[in-house]
Amino acid sequence: MKDAAAWVRDEIRALSAYHVAPAAGFVKLDAMENPYRLPPELADELGRHLAQVAINRYPDPDAPRLKAVLREAMAIPEGLGLVLGNGSDEILQMIAVALAKPGATMLALEPSFVMYRMSAIAAGMGYEGVSLAPDFAPDLPATLAAIDRVRPALTWIAYPNNPTGNLFPREAILAIVEASPGLVVVDEAYHPFAGGATFLPEVGRHPNLVLVRTVSKLGLAGLRLGLATGPGDWLAEFDKVRLPYNVNVLTAAAAQFVLSRRGVLEDQTRRIVRDRAALEAGLDAIAGVRRFPSAANFVLARVPDAPRAFEGLKARGILVRTLHGSHPLLAHCLRFTVGTPDENASLLAALAPAIG
Ligand code: PMP
Repeated sequence: MKDAAAWVRDEIRALSAYHVAPAAGFVKLDAMENPYRLPPELADELGRHLAQVAINRYPDPDAPRLKAVLREAMAIPEGLGLVLGNGSDEILQMIAVALAKPGATMLALEPSFVMYRMSAIAAGMGYEGVSLAPDFAPDLPATLAAIDRVRPALTWIAYPNNPTGNLFPREAILAIVEASPGLVVVDEAYHPFAGGATFLPEVGRHPNLVLVRTVSKLGLAGLRLGLATGPGDWLAEFDKVRLPYNVNVLTAAAAQFVLSRRGVLEDQTRRIVRDRAALEAGLDAIAGVRRFPSAANFVLARVPDAPRAFEGLKARGILVRTLHGSHPLLAHCLRFTVGTPDENASLLAALAPAIG
């Protein structure tokens, strides 16, 4: 009886770990990364800057300079609270842990980011998924009915949504915020590609609305830095479950350095948005592919046989994400991260033979 099976919670044993496919040698279009590195001169300067960092010291847990740079870069007003996480993944975890009273439930729309459910279960919360409508917009009557029934402590909404790529109608999200007895978190991980669409101006107007952002999709995924902003009373509580040194000194220094020169990242994201349009047009030109509109740095598409297309692309050196089997609305769907123009061209060239 000294084995893990005897002691680990049943719901944890029933989970599968978040899957990351080995990508060495592939054109990597599976993880919504910015495909561009920093220009070499800037990378050298960053290296010299990081060499000055006192890695013998613990980080400043309040990180005031980093917070000031993030507030400035993301136009977060001084009046709103701010909590930093080791990626927004850790923010999900902190919020779930803080709200996991016995019997509390998290609600999320499905399909969406799989870590919502995982973080609910890890925190010991109940989980209620409400299916989107076939056009990937929220099914508002079903969502409001679920809110009424389960009285969720916490509701997650991704804006734009992953893996569908669309922006939900604002009125639907506001109706969910109004109807929710508990906290609603709008997760704007893909904000850099959404043409300025944001709920930031709404934050502070609703007592139960918190916004989450990350620097990952902007081009700093390896640093692991995300944030939550919103009413101070909520944020002060989340801060208590944050591990004191969750953002390390190299991440803080690198993020401050790069975000102070963020024109480079903004140029890259603009290029990605332009290349998304080209990728969409290329997908539309392939017979048998149905492409869905995207406000993010990836494109969802339905193909005749997703497992076969996925393997066909892999055999041609291209790694994408297959969503087939993950939700009924995603039958035979693949998700393509927007890469460099060359990577996108390789994908388009490989896709027709892979599905044929
Ligand atoms: N939210 C959404 C909707 C995501 O798709 C992702 C990453 N795939 C995250 C949050 C987590 O991002 P990170 O931990 O890198 O900040």
